[in-house]
Amino acid sequence: MTDLLIRRARLVPVRGEVTVQALVDVLVEDGTVTQVAPAVERPDGVEEIDADGRWIAPGLWDQHVHLTQWVEGRQRLDLSGAGSVEEAAQLVGQRIAERPGQPVVGWGHRSAFMGRDGTTSELDAVSTEVPILLISGDGHHAWGNALALSVLGLTARDEVVRENEWFDAYPRVPDIAGRTDTADAYREALSAAAALGVVGLVDFEFNGRLEPWVERWHDGCDLLRVRWATYAAGLEEVIAAGLRTGDALMGEHGPVADERLTMGPLKIISDGSLNTRTAWCCDPYGDADLLEHPAGLPNQSGAELRALLGRAASIGLEVATHAIGDAAVADALLAYADTGATGSIEHAQLVRRDDVRRIAELGLRASVQPAHLLDDRDLTEKVWPGRGDRCFAFRWMLDDGVQLALGSDAPVSPLDPWLAMAAAVHRSADDRDPWHAEQALTPAEAFAASVDDQPTVGPGSRGDLVLLDDDPLAVGESTKSTAAALRGMPVALTVVGGLVVHRAG
Ligand SMILES: [Zn+2]
Repeated sequence: MTDLLIRRARLVPVRGEVTVQALVDVLVEDGTVTQVAPAVERPDGVEEIDADGRWIAPGLWDQHVHLTQWVEGRQRLDLSGAGSVEEAAQLVGQRIAERPGQPVVGWGHRSAFMGRDGTTSELDAVSTEVPILLISGDGHHAWGNALALSVLGLTARDEVVRENEWFDAYPRVPDIAGRTDTADAYREALSAAAALGVVGLVDFEFNGRLEPWVERWHDGCDLLRVRWATYAAGLEEVIAAGLRTGDALMGEHGPVADERLTMGPLKIISDGSLNTRTAWCCDPYGDADLLEHPAGLPNQSGAELRALLGRAASIGLEVATHAIGDAAVADALLAYADTGATGSIEHAQLVRRDDVRRIAELGLRASVQPAHLLDDRDLTEKVWPGRGDRCFAFRWMLDDGVQLALGSDAPVSPLDPWLAMAAAVHRSADDRDPWHAEQALTPAEAFAASVDDQPTVGPGSRGDLVLLDDDPLAVGESTKSTAAALRGMPVALTVVGGLVVHRAG
C-alpha cells in the first residue's frame, strides 16, 4: 500500500452529504485516506498530483463480472449482431475462409434475435474439419458442430448445449482453441477497466478454483481489487482453506498476504435466463406453447438451494444467488430467510412488488446490471408481456431501502460502469423514450450504487480514488443528455490503495 497526495480536488458528495465547496487536498497514507483539507502538508517522499479542480470520488466497482470470459471474449468471433441462424453460420464460414484450419470460438449470438436456436448439423454444413463452438450472448448455452461437441466430451445431438451441462463443459473450451486466458490478456483487460475508473470487481467466473487467481496475481495481474466467488463445485476447497468472505486469498493460504485479493461469496445460479426462456417465473412466458417449461424452472430443488445457503452461512460465506425470474427471486428470498444466509440477489430482473420489500427486510443487496435492459427491452415485451413495469425495478428498490450494487455481468454487457449508470438513468439505447422511466435513477443514485457502498472521500476512506474531468452527478437537460455525459466521462486518474493504476495520457 502506497502514499499519495492529490492537491486541489473537488469532492463528489456521494450520498448527498453536504460538503465543503472549496478545493481540497487529499492525502493517502499506507493505502488509506488520512487527511482531506484545503492545504495539507506533503510528507517527505510522497508523490504529489495536481487535480486542477477535477472531481474526486471513491473508485468504481463492477459487482458482477465473469472475468475469464470477458478476457477471452475480447479475442473471440463477435456474433452479437447476427440476426438469424443463417447469418451466424455465414459469419463463421467467412472466419474459416480467412483463417483456414483454425478452430472457431464465437460469442454473443442471441436465440431470441435469431428467431430460433441453431442446430449441430447447420454448423457441420459450414465445416466438419475444424471445431466450431459458439457461446450465446448470455452465456447460458453453446452451439457447436459435431467435432466441437466431441472435443468437449459431450454426447452427440442436433441442438445446443444448455445450462448446467454447458456450465460443466465450459472449463474445457481451451481444448478447442488453446488458452486465451494468458496473464498478458488479463493485464490488458484490467488496465482497460482501470482507465474507466474501476478500482475493483467481483469475479463470478464459472468453476474457478483458488489457484488460478493466486498464480495470476503473482504474474502481475494485481492492478485492481478482486473478490473471487466460488461455486458449489469449489465450496469444499474453500472450506478446507478456512476462507470466509472478506479474507485475503493469500497470506496463510499462499506466499504473499494482499488485502486487495479476497474471498467473495458463494455463487449459486438458481434459475436460467430471459434469452433462453429458462428464467423461473410466476407466470408462463408469452411464447409458452413453444417451451418445454412454460414458466421456466429452477436449476435445483428448494432443498438443495437451502442446503447450500445453510452451509455457506455456517462457515461465514456470503451467498450471491442468481435469480432472474420473479419465482426464482421469491424462492431465493424464502431460502435466505430460512437459513439466515446473507449476501445478494444477482440480477433480480423481474420482481413482484412485495418481494422488493423483502429484499430490504432481509438486508440483502440487489446486484443489478442496468445495461441488460438496453438489450432486453424488446425481448421482454415479447416474452414477458405486461410485465415490463416489474423489470429492472431500481426505483422500487431504492424506495424500499434496498442496497443497490451495479455491475455489468461482463461479457453479457461490457465491463463499463459508466454504461451501467447511463442505462440506469436513461433506460433507452436508441431514440425511443426511456423504458418505464418511473424506475429510472438520478445520476447521484446511480453513482452511489457504483462505488461499493463507499461514502464521500474523507479521512478513513479507502485509498481507492478516481479523478474525473466532469461532475458525475450533473443533471443535463434530458435524461438522454445526462446519460451521454456519463458515457463519455473522462477519467484523469485511478488509484487503488494509494497506487496509481491509470493516468490519462
Ligand atoms: Zn453472471
